Amino acid sequence: MNVAVLPPFTEEELVRRAMTVAVDALAWPRLQRLGIDLRVRRDDQLDRELSGNKFYKLFFNLAAAHEAGMRQIASFGGAYSNHLHALAAAGRRYGFSTLGLVRGERPAQLSPTLADAEAWGMRLVFLSRSQYRQGADEALMCQLREVYGDFYLVPEGGANLAGARGLLAVGRALEQQLQGEYDQVCLPCGTGTSLAGLAAGLPPGKLAVGISVLKGEGGLCADVAARYRELQSLPGAAGHEAANWRLISGYHGGGYARRLPPALGRFWREFEAETGLLVDPVYTLKLFWAVAQLAEQGYWRRGTRLVVVHTGGLQGRRGFTEFIS
Ligand SMILES: *Cc1c(COP(=O)(O)O)cnc(C)c1O
Repeated sequence: MNVAVLPPFTEEELVRRAMTVAVDALAWPRLQRLGIDLRVRRDDQLDRELSGNKFYKLFFNLAAAHEAGMRQIASFGGAYSNHLHALAAAGRRYGFSTLGLVRGERPAQLSPTLADAEAWGMRLVFLSRSQYRQGADEALMCQLREVYGDFYLVPEGGANLAGARGLLAVGRALEQQLQGEYDQVCLPCGTGTSLAGLAAGLPPGKLAVGISVLKGEGGLCADVAARYRELQSLPGAAGHEAANWRLISGYHGGGYARRLPPALGRFWREFEAETGLLVDPVYTLKLFWAVAQLAEQGYWRRGTRLVVVHTGGLQGRRGFTEFIS
């Protein structure tokens, strides 16, 4: 049996990992013409199986499970969830059992995402849509614990304070890596947990810009604001006098839907051909799409030094091959 080696679950360790990620200049003619100095932070390359922002969001959740003496971790997600994929990889890597609570019925053929998760030892439990909507309902959790044993529960998408804390490390590492030579940092938002963490981890004067990929983004701004405030009250937090984050909507391209608008499909092929950088269909594709349009609308002045965070999710390309082949 594999004896998993747990990393030291400290902020320093996470910043050290985050410092290993390359921050590369991106030659993208569309932005170069506009005088924008663009770099990409390659968190998609952090690890082969456990990469992107989901690694950071899981880090202190794994720590909490470990500290609670819990050997099993459960969480929620859909059939293409980057979060469940990362949780399964983390469980295998660090010796936790994992339980994936999946929306919908078990299909005849699992999505590539869930097939990986199951191959890595995650037990999949399929919940009806109404059960799924109840989320961490006590009666349901109790039932699940009776069947599968006790577990530490991580919310869908790793959207809790521990998750956001992990992203502080990205801001701190980036500042050291670039020695302050950048102005703004862009990333895609689902729950906004990563945006809150990144912003709070940047020093005063640096702005985090989140691009919402959701359709009904009603409460997202309030969620980010609440999480950001929570992070600000942690010991050792950088004191931001004014909120150093913005949330931009309108680039969801249909939300999480499995079909992309044709214009977005075309942009996908062109972007990858022009830059050689691979993106995922749900988050980073829309991130670069938004960045191109915002730049063309003059959202950034000429000379702005922009860092775009590639938050990973490339495993999700497998359900969308019709757009890129
Ligand atoms: C989950 C995910 C996001 C969204 O992160 P939030 O913290 O929920 O806003 C962004 N990019 C990728 C690739 C993701 O998998």
